[in-house]
Amino acid sequence: MKLHAVVIGAGPAGLSVSASLLQKGLPVVCLESGGRAGGMMGSVRRDGFLAETGPHSFRLFGDSVPESLRITGLDRRLVDANPAAKKRYVTCGGRPVAAPASPLEAARSPLLSLTGKLRFAVEPFVCRASEDEEETVAQFVRRRLGGEALTRLVDAVVGGIYAGDPEKLSVRHAMPMLHRFDREYGSLVIGALATRDERKVRGKARIAGFPTGMAELPAALASMLGDSLRLNATVVSLERTPVGWRVVWREQGGPERVAEATHVVVAAPPSRWSQLPLPAGLDELGAAAAAVPSPPVGVVTLGYSREKVSHPLDGFGVLSPGAERRSALGVLFPSSILPGRAPDGAVTLAAFIGGARQPELGALDADELVRLAREECESLMGARGAPEFVNVARWSRAIPQYDLRHGDFLAKMSAAESTMPGLHFCGNFRGGVAIGATLDNAAALARSIA
Ligand SMILES: Cc1cc2nc3c(=O)[nH]c(=O)nc-3n(C[C@H](O)[C@H](O)[C@H](O)COP(=O)(O)OP(=O)(O)OC[C@H]3O[C@@H](n4cnc5c(N)ncnc54)[C@H](O)[C@@H]3O)c2cc1C
Repeated sequence: MKLHAVVIGAGPAGLSVSASLLQKGLPVVCLESGGRAGGMMGSVRRDGFLAETGPHSFRLFGDSVPESLRITGLDRRLVDANPAAKKRYVTCGGRPVAAPASPLEAARSPLLSLTGKLRFAVEPFVCRASEDEEETVAQFVRRRLGGEALTRLVDAVVGGIYAGDPEKLSVRHAMPMLHRFDREYGSLVIGALATRDERKVRGKARIAGFPTGMAELPAALASMLGDSLRLNATVVSLERTPVGWRVVWREQGGPERVAEATHVVVAAPPSRWSQLPLPAGLDELGAAAAAVPSPPVGVVTLGYSREKVSHPLDGFGVLSPGAERRSALGVLFPSSILPGRAPDGAVTLAAFIGGARQPELGALDADELVRLAREECESLMGARGAPEFVNVARWSRAIPQYDLRHGDFLAKMSAAESTMPGLHFCGNFRGGVAIGATLDNAAALARSIA
């Protein structure tokens, strides 16, 4: 079989690269080790409720949409989040407190003490970091905004985006915009003001999803791929040839299949590369991939009658900083964000448990996760009684952490790509963990190898 590319992994990244190449008329095969496409993206519908297994929504900018949405026609199915979902809560003293959305609100917010607020005010006068200093997010925030901003706000946000620990994540890689403001402008405030025009060109950020759940995206991409998507596939060997690559795989223990391809795209998470026959000479890259932490996360969706939850649920959700010592990173309000997540008169709450701060909780069994999620919803949202709907998704290796070794991992990937033409790496382990960034990077890769 002669192909333009073999793509390994059918998560959003691998599916997108494959579909973009196919749309350009280039033959591909996408090999997925599991029995379904979509990776962490999946939706479960039962009894009128809808639960997401991983991502609940996308962040898009202005009118632009990722290429994979355009080529599948899914751009026409996008549903914008309820504007009220702009409101975010942060746990403070055991209760949800609205996060400030403007400097005026910040000045009045009980989230920070007067000293903490004054520390914000001197941010433009703080010196920038030295060129060769690699800081963690925690070091960066303490230096620029003070310790209270870290423990009461940023810690919660880092938990919400990365399920991560700010003491371990690299600010350069995990929060590149803040890092850039520090380097180029010597201040977050000045950087934000100076780049207003850039942001205007990019367009306003908006949150969106699909009417029947995030799974619409992998389903549409998989149907576009048809027979080019091979499930339950195990890659047996990956070898360079004088003109490209020779890939051998088996499907469900069947006979070996062979393809000659110009390109090979590894779109499986680094935590799984040890199961791939990476080409000889990539031992150091393999070791760096194995060292990328991807702590476990459990996602528990609970459905309640509206009157059983006392909180107004007038927002996106609540995030809890580590200092609050809670068992969930946060609780989203999915039925307040997008329509169709719960039957009339009911609501859904989705608790995220585990991550880098409490990996032992993310690894608990489903019953324990439900117990913790119920406790969180009871004490934070005022939920009462048994939920009418329960769904649990468990990810033993959830989100790759961009820690202080991430720069070295990126450098090793780039070196492998330049010494082995036709080999590429693509996924949320590179260039941003969110779906939007993952899809944009996948489309850019497809353009460059088409
Ligand atoms: C709990 C959770 C909530 C999230 N929420 C959001 C959100 O609200 N918004 C957002 O933007 N992002 C969110 N994300 C991040 C988002 O889900 C990921 O960025 C995205 O799924 C990454 O896509 P991917 O294709 O890189 O990887 P994955 O989704 O991990 O897909 C990788 C695929 O490769 C396959 N694979 C693994 N090993 C092999 C192998 N050896 N051979 C072949 N195939 C293999 C896997 O089975 C899988 O199908 C969330 C993530 C998690 C875990």
